[in-house]
Amino acid sequence: MAAVTFNKVEKSFGKFKIIHGISFDIADGEFVVLVGPSGCGKSTLLRMLAGLEEIGAGEIAIDGRVVNDVDSKDRDIAMVFQSYALYPHMTVRDNLGFSLKLRKADPALIGERVVNAARILNLDALLGRFPRELSGGQRQRVAMGRAIVRDPKVFLFDEPLSNLDAKLRVAMRAEIKALHQRLKTTTVYVTHDQVEAMTLADKIVVLRAGHIEQAGTPDDVYNHPVSMFVAGFIGSPTMNFTRGRIGEDASSVSLHDRQGDTVLPLTAERQARYAAHAGREVVVGIRPEHFAPAGAEPPQLTAVVDVVEPLGSDTLVFLTFGDGEIVARVPPATPAAPGQPIALRIDVGQLHCFDPVTERVI
Ligand code: ATP
Repeated sequence: MAAVTFNKVEKSFGKFKIIHGISFDIADGEFVVLVGPSGCGKSTLLRMLAGLEEIGAGEIAIDGRVVNDVDSKDRDIAMVFQSYALYPHMTVRDNLGFSLKLRKADPALIGERVVNAARILNLDALLGRFPRELSGGQRQRVAMGRAIVRDPKVFLFDEPLSNLDAKLRVAMRAEIKALHQRLKTTTVYVTHDQVEAMTLADKIVVLRAGHIEQAGTPDDVYNHPVSMFVAGFIGSPTMNFTRGRIGEDASSVSLHDRQGDTVLPLTAERQARYAAHAGREVVVGIRPEHFAPAGAEPPQLTAVVDVVEPLGSDTLVFLTFGDGEIVARVPPATPAAPGQPIALRIDVGQLHCFDPVTERVI
């Protein structure tokens, strides 16, 4: 087990700078997820940590040792890829033990480690099979087993679940989490899937075009996003953004709509936060789950329903509001029909205001 440090790490491919001076720490035993849209540089960061890509500038340290010039095989890390990368002509047993065999480890030790990994991952019955005789989920478990057998200081995962169907992805996600809870090995996990990031991470690092946009616990990035980018990336359906204005005394915020403004009272905490921004035009962010049917209470927002999507556990209602559409997540029994108005209340303690120009939170 080991801590990992990225210190002002940079990377260019030819003329193009891809990573712009990234610094963050990963504590011993921590599960860190690098998340961001396609092309933001998350795989490149992981590959630099793995030693598969040269570090352009700055330093990466594992367990206090700068590894910039250390060969990949001497970094004591194990990587699990999206493609599994199993040896097709070897049985599961041989795939699991191969890296130790290459290192000329004692056969008794190899046998012990293979049996142990197979037990942890429920592969005991499959040790004699070849990769072609396994399902996608089983192959991914073998790939994880191969990493476990090496007993590395750090596990690296690069989109390991992308090739699996939706149901298997959920099951494997839970297995990876259970594995980390059991082994407590420092883990760096790359994904573009914000649900994987939220469910697995101790710490999420949200990347945008080679910069860190925000790093924090899942609670931090979900409930306290620093920008519209993070607010829009983490959470599904995504946070609603609509134009508004903080009231002259900062006791309320009004949402602009063609039918007239909707005025929402602000909580004491939000009033204190927005006091210095009274009268300012903002983008107001409201998550779908922070709407609720008004029921017998006076509605705070009334809008016409465009589309109703029942999900079983709850229902998504798409409404025309402001310059576009907003989505509310409501209980399944809520009466809602296309073309009809719906009356909603908003959890005003949970709304966010962003600067319309910088898109940073206020
Ligand atoms: P994805 O989710 O699509 O895999 P990513 O966030 O992992 O994206 P990277 O693979 O790290 O992104 O790539 C970051 C940027 O660097 C992209 O613009 C990509 O085109 C570029 N890039 C990556 N590898 C190379 C390379 N070997 N040569 C040139 N450009 C590269």
